[in-house]
Amino acid sequence: MPSIAIIGAGIAGLACAARLQVADATLQIFDKGRAPGGRMATRELHLPSGTLGLDHGAQYFTAHTPAFQAQCERWKTAGVIAPWRVAVQELAPPRPGRAPAAERLRGVPDLRHLTAYCAQGLPLHRQAEVVSVARLAAGWALQLADGREYSGFDYLLLALPAEQTAALLTAVAPGLSAQAATARTAPCWAGLFAFTHDHAAKHHAIRGAGEGTLGWLARSAQGPAWVVHATPAWSRAHLDQSPTWVSAALEHALRAHLPGLGPSVQAVAHRWRYALVEQAIGVPFGWDETLGLGACGDGWLGARVELAWHSGDALGARLAADFPPRS
Ligand SMILES: Cc1cc2nc3c(=O)[nH]c(=O)nc-3n(C[C@H](O)[C@H](O)[C@H](O)COP(=O)(O)OP(=O)(O)OC[C@H]3O[C@@H](n4cnc5c(N)ncnc54)[C@H](O)[C@@H]3O)c2cc1C
Repeated sequence: MPSIAIIGAGIAGLACAARLQVADATLQIFDKGRAPGGRMATRELHLPSGTLGLDHGAQYFTAHTPAFQAQCERWKTAGVIAPWRVAVQELAPPRPGRAPAAERLRGVPDLRHLTAYCAQGLPLHRQAEVVSVARLAAGWALQLADGREYSGFDYLLLALPAEQTAALLTAVAPGLSAQAATARTAPCWAGLFAFTHDHAAKHHAIRGAGEGTLGWLARSAQGPAWVVHATPAWSRAHLDQSPTWVSAALEHALRAHLPGLGPSVQAVAHRWRYALVEQAIGVPFGWDETLGLGACGDGWLGARVELAWHSGDALGARLAADFPPRS
């Protein structure tokens, strides 16, 4: 039975794994995070009234293709996503490549529940950061940051931001590495803030507030907590600032836009080094038949949950087509 390693349990890696789970193959998934989901991430904030989860990567997603719409219907039935019926105040011109208007979907109650649902039953190694890969006579071998090694895989699939795929493959697959390196992904500083109160806040989500600093602000439905995303330009300009400095700068920008926020009870900044794809590779996935090596993720088709899912699903389907179904 062929053995497959997938590096990355974001939505692309999870979609790829879902395809391969029904094939007659053994699968192991490695992710450096404590939980699956990658950029579909939730962080807990502590308010005097209790703890709430705030999504600080992807905010919502849309479904345009019949295949992803069908997937979303299954997730709705499972109760892990629901329509997000919030009026978004648009203060900025649409970003190039932004998806056309469609129903906005959110995790219920947040995205970690969706990705945990997708990862159910999958053989996932958490907190398993792969620092190098090698193709040996006995198959693919992975070296982890904590010194662990795994080897003997017939196939290796990378479901990472394209720049990270390019870096991991430089020595072992220069062709696929160069192809992945054609993608460009913008960083994003995210700020998460909990306040004692926010009586003056009228809108639940605003795109383009903050004079070039803030690209997005959204309030939690559960309480006076806000997530803000800095624009790509601001994030690039302040990429190496400390989280403390960034958190103060983003809170200042948020307060300037939303007077009436009470004192903050928690303020956190998170840097997404690779956040939104600005230039995609333009094919669904990368594949090297000779090496038994594939790559997927949003860098291949574009900056959206839906496109990342399609990339992973297409790579999984390509490989699963070579194996008989599991009996
Ligand atoms: C701030 C922000 C806002 C966004 N807003 C939206 C939105 O509103 N709507 C929308 O549709 N999309 C949005 N996106 C984009 C969307 O989140 C991504 O396109 C999608 O989640 C990418 O999924 P992926 O599986 O390709 O990559 P990722 O989610 O990045 O998954 C990659 C996984 O690989 C793991 N990993 C990385 N390196 C290693 C390693 N060396 N070893 C092991 N594991 C590793 C990571 O931990 C991660 O889990 C947003 C993204 C960000 C950051």
